[in-house]
Amino acid sequence: MTDLHRLSIRELSEGLKQAQFSSRELTEHYLKRIAQIDPKVKSYVTVTAEQALVEADAADAALKAGHAHALAGIPLAHKDIFCTQGIKTTAGSKMLDNFISPYDATVVAKAKAAGLVTLGKVNMDEFAMGSTSESSYFGATGNPWALDHVPGGSSGGSAAAVAADLAPIATGTDTGGSIRQPASFCGLTGLKPTYGRVSRFGMIAYASSLDQGGPMARSAEDCAYLMNVIAGHDTKDSTSVNKDVDDYVANLNGTTVKGLRIGIPKQYFNVAGLDADVKARVEESLKKLEEMGAILVEIDLNMTEAYVPTYYLIAPAEASSNLSRFDGVRYGYRCENPVDLMDLYKRSRSEGFGAEVQRRILIGTYALSAGYYDAYYVKAQKVRRLIQQDFLKAFENVDVIAAPSAPTTAYKIGANLSPTEMYLGDIYTLAVNLAGLPAINAPVGFDKDSLPVGLQLIGNYWSESQLLSIVHQYQQNTDWHTKRAAIAEENA
Ligand code: GLN
Repeated sequence: MTDLHRLSIRELSEGLKQAQFSSRELTEHYLKRIAQIDPKVKSYVTVTAEQALVEADAADAALKAGHAHALAGIPLAHKDIFCTQGIKTTAGSKMLDNFISPYDATVVAKAKAAGLVTLGKVNMDEFAMGSTSESSYFGATGNPWALDHVPGGSSGGSAAAVAADLAPIATGTDTGGSIRQPASFCGLTGLKPTYGRVSRFGMIAYASSLDQGGPMARSAEDCAYLMNVIAGHDTKDSTSVNKDVDDYVANLNGTTVKGLRIGIPKQYFNVAGLDADVKARVEESLKKLEEMGAILVEIDLNMTEAYVPTYYLIAPAEASSNLSRFDGVRYGYRCENPVDLMDLYKRSRSEGFGAEVQRRILIGTYALSAGYYDAYYVKAQKVRRLIQQDFLKAFENVDVIAAPSAPTTAYKIGANLSPTEMYLGDIYTLAVNLAGLPAINAPVGFDKDSLPVGLQLIGNYWSESQLLSIVHQYQQNTDWHTKRAAIAEENA
């Protein structure tokens, strides 16, 4: 079969169960595509071809024996922020260029236990700081829809790999939008779960109170399959929550769109810098949901202006603390010929970290320093609480909240946005992480340059099933999620 890469996760699962093809054939098919097409996209940092085939054979044996998990034998790509035993984990940084983790992240371990086959590790902004994936030490990744554009970030490699059909599904992480924005830029569906739903164990920390892993795929249905594998309590992550996990696949039709109240925040659609095409496509998608029976309700989210400054204080503060472990002593990059300990620390960190990471360490350290701590960090924490309350108040009247995922479509590679311009592009995604809420991106059309546009739906705590279900039903009534970039149509 030459078009195995066109099958959905459900179709792959059924095909494998019915022995229409083997996991080895499927895995070889993807490895061949990666070898031929990824040199143009550059989504993979590491391809684990040999190990993938060993895993595929094991899945085939389990399938034959009739005791395989629903996803056994299906390939996936992991963002290079998830620790993988025996395979390099770089977090897109020179600092970890040679780091081989002695253990698997819980997300990786769960994927392995379900029989998923790891194709490799995909590119990302250095330590997940960025919105373009250009800050990676390994260079930029191309957007499959226009290779001279960015795929978004920080999970840009995950998005590009799926959008070019170089993996059927991928893991991503979202600290301030890093699943939703690349999904939006690449025309995919991506879910940022409620904080605490997916274990952070073995996921290299950026800002621990905001970080959350989740699925990136073509459709809500595909995301639901991966959520069924990765969600759940983990005693190794003290912030993971001990709460029953839904069967996300079984619940795909569990929410009725008829009568569903969708909040439209006034403030969100008046943001300076909201592209006219993005606005139009998002409004059309809302109209479609309205035709399907949803009720659109205008709401207020009064704290909108505070999102960017609050996030860009808290995230760097936590990052400066988390990244202090990379000191040239314990593991990671160490400079050559240090003259003394201070020199070793200084040069290891200035040579090992890129510019954006250093900027955030400086900002974060400043915000946490004695004398400024109350004025900046404590103040930001108080505003964070107000942002959360703003959402909780809104959810008294509506079921979900709609927004664009990003004010624009994908930027050109090398557009060289100033840090502030780039941070402002995160306006629609940051508050969800500050409040710990779940949110999903769904593709809803294209701009005048044929670049994808995404709709974001934000839910109340633990509403992953509801979000997936709404998008699933939208996708039963539209075909945006089935559109493929020309490069994905290429046969290897
Ligand atoms: N663009 C945001 C940042 O640079 C979000 C990144 C993320 O979610 N990891 O912090």
